[in-house]
Amino acid sequence: MKYLTVLLVLAVAFWLWRSNRKADKVPPPKPSSAKAPGTPQPMLRCAACGLHLPQSDALTGRQGSYCSAAHLKQLEGG
Ligand SMILES: [Zn+2]
Repeated sequence: MKYLTVLLVLAVAFWLWRSNRKADKVPPPKPSSAKAPGTPQPMLRCAACGLHLPQSDALTGRQGSYCSAAHLKQLEGG
């Protein structure tokens, strides 16, 4: 009967250890620095193709803003 008690204590300890590990695995919440949906953003116009895009997605060159690196290269030559 003594061994059964030891086994029971070990089983409970193992179960507690396992549930603690599970709790540790929960990923931390993502930082809220990501742009919030619905927040108005200044829109810029690509100097090459005229596409309108949010300022955070635009590439800024010497002569204006661009929707992509390809268009920046196209107008500013690299
Ligand atoms: Zn463009």
